[in-house]
Amino acid sequence: MPYLRDVLGELGDGAMDLVFAPVCVSCDRPIPTTEKDRLVCRLCWVKCRTLPHPRCERCWAPVPAHEDPRPKCRTCGDWPQAVRAIRAAFVMGPEVKGICHALKYRGWEGAADPMAQRMSEMSWPRDVEDEVRLVVPVPTSAARLRERGYNQAALLATAFAKKMGWTASPDVLARTRQSKTQTALHPGERKANVARAFSVPAERAAELQGEHVMLVDDVWTTGATALACSQALLDAGARVVSVATFARVIPELER
Ligand SMILES: [Zn+2]
Ligand SMILES: [Zn+2]
Repeated sequence: MPYLRDVLGELGDGAMDLVFAPVCVSCDRPIPTTEKDRLVCRLCWVKCRTLPHPRCERCWAPVPAHEDPRPKCRTCGDWPQAVRAIRAAFVMGPEVKGICHALKYRGWEGAADPMAQRMSEMSWPRDVEDEVRLVVPVPTSAARLRERGYNQAALLATAFAKKMGWTASPDVLARTRQSKTQTALHPGERKANVARAFSVPAERAAELQGEHVMLVDDVWTTGATALACSQALLDAGARVVSVATFARVIPELER
């Protein structure tokens, strides 16, 4: 009903809400008209939890209170030096999952903006803030792009870059071959499944030279995908890669 929507739009959000009565994409309850965010209700946002302390300064993995992650963190200790910092706005949980699904599977492209807003509130080491200029999303497969019409990571990367004053460069990474869906695989299998699945087309390598690139995805699960993408960016000439996601799966914390 584009015409009705236009007419009502001129009457303001109140009239739109009478007809379209927005419900939260995560909990399906009506969103009170007093709330500014028309896609995710305030209660769901309140239930989204940030990553717990203490955590590794580099990768933000939770660290047991009695354990010092230096000099070698159990999670990131073996990663390439050029992978600098990993951040996620929230721990995966029911509300976070609902928001991710709305963006990824249910066509709620507008969710990218409030999600990127939360990502823009994360703190980074000083050198990351000083050096990053380019934001690159994890690419999706051509088949999934045809099916959904958009890459959720690219929407997040674009909105996140805008909020941070950086530049989104959506097509720098490409999938070189179809990897199987990661969902049903164990960590070791995930790593083998995505190794060498990504590359930078030759004509895009120039813009990466010497850059500290910010890689963006919706969810960090084992890190296999993000680390494979990071390696492809480094192989193509990037100097350093950091990674920002909306959610991070921490199995021991999932409710
Ligand atoms: Zn809700
Ligand atoms: Zn770490």
